[in-house]
Amino acid sequence: MASCQPPSTTELVTMDVESVLHMKGGLGETSYAQNSSLQKKSMEAIKHIIVDSATDVYASRAPGCFTIADLGCSSGTNAFSLVSKIVESIHEKARQSERLMPEILVFLNDLPTNDFNSVFLNFPEFTRKLKGGIELQEGSAPSVYLAALPGSFYGRLFPSNSLDFIYSCHSLHWLSEVPLGLVDGNGKPINKGKIYISNTSHPAVPLAYLRQFQKDFSLFLKSRSAELRSGGRIVVLILGRRTDDHSDKSATVLWELLDQSLAIMVSQEMVDEEKVDTYNVPFYAPSTKEIEDEVGREGSFEIDFIQAYELNTSTGDPHKDARITSMAIRAIQESMITHHFGEGIADTLFQIYSGLLSEFLVKQELKCPLLIAVLRKPHQT
Ligand code: SAH
Repeated sequence: MASCQPPSTTELVTMDVESVLHMKGGLGETSYAQNSSLQKKSMEAIKHIIVDSATDVYASRAPGCFTIADLGCSSGTNAFSLVSKIVESIHEKARQSERLMPEILVFLNDLPTNDFNSVFLNFPEFTRKLKGGIELQEGSAPSVYLAALPGSFYGRLFPSNSLDFIYSCHSLHWLSEVPLGLVDGNGKPINKGKIYISNTSHPAVPLAYLRQFQKDFSLFLKSRSAELRSGGRIVVLILGRRTDDHSDKSATVLWELLDQSLAIMVSQEMVDEEKVDTYNVPFYAPSTKEIEDEVGREGSFEIDFIQAYELNTSTGDPHKDARITSMAIRAIQESMITHHFGEGIADTLFQIYSGLLSEFLVKQELKCPLLIAVLRKPHQT
């Protein structure tokens, strides 16, 4: 006989992240494509690091075909912005050293639920601009082949020794699952009223998040080390922390404002308190030391460069900034929120969130804590 029992609390806490998490697809008002200008600014700020790393790898071997992967490309134009810069720079390097321009193969990877269609809608525009830009310099356009590759980067995606360069922007702070240790021995939530680590969280909460991050990041490194050729590099850009303190305000403030928005909806009986208690985001912002420790433990890579820094994305108008940021968080979070709380909560939730963000930004600036790391797979000795 089929059971009519409601799911246990533990069941409510777990979420099949790989099948639920996706940035809002399409090109509509609330889509990631329309609401990823903050990520674009952040990529602009570090693009020289990605472009120079890729060009150095090319110059060290000058292969006839240079293979690149963007892990966690999402939808919209951000997916193409770095590819063009890398291609232009490699082309210039080949020209300076009087080599033939290599063919370039680019894999755009994301989870299978990603809206790859809206990525490829931008392809004709991408090739038109790319060819135009490079033809002006030399008269012959480069051969760039683009392919989508669905699958989780927490596991193998490519054949052994098949890639020269990998980059991943704003993606590796997403965990493969919500940490298991967020319930007590009886399956009761221990991070009540909070959706991420906060300064009132039980010490077991940051520990559970750190353990999940270590497990995931180590699997990521192991998988990439098999796929990357010797001398190849990975550049990772993620939200991170500048201090060892897990509840470092700058890394948690956007989640805490979402906690407060949900609390308001609970007080107005629009959302069940238990639903909030059992919702935790599969996200973790590591410190540089946590990355260094994991790279050292896993052992396949050397760190060329690592830095935590803050990006100020303010336009000078706190209300406009609140709108931009709240739309960005909505495009990122809506799939998970809707999965957990049901359809129909997003409009009200993000209206409240935008209001709270406005109040916050009138009083203080929001600085985005980011972390960039360049990892190299050493040549075998
Ligand atoms: N790189 C883009 C998009 C970042 S959004 C930019 O900087 O604008 C983060 C992306 O990572 C999302 O599209 C999400 O689906 C993807 N992602 C999260 N976990 C993933 C995983 N395990 N494997 C592949 N992609 C993942």
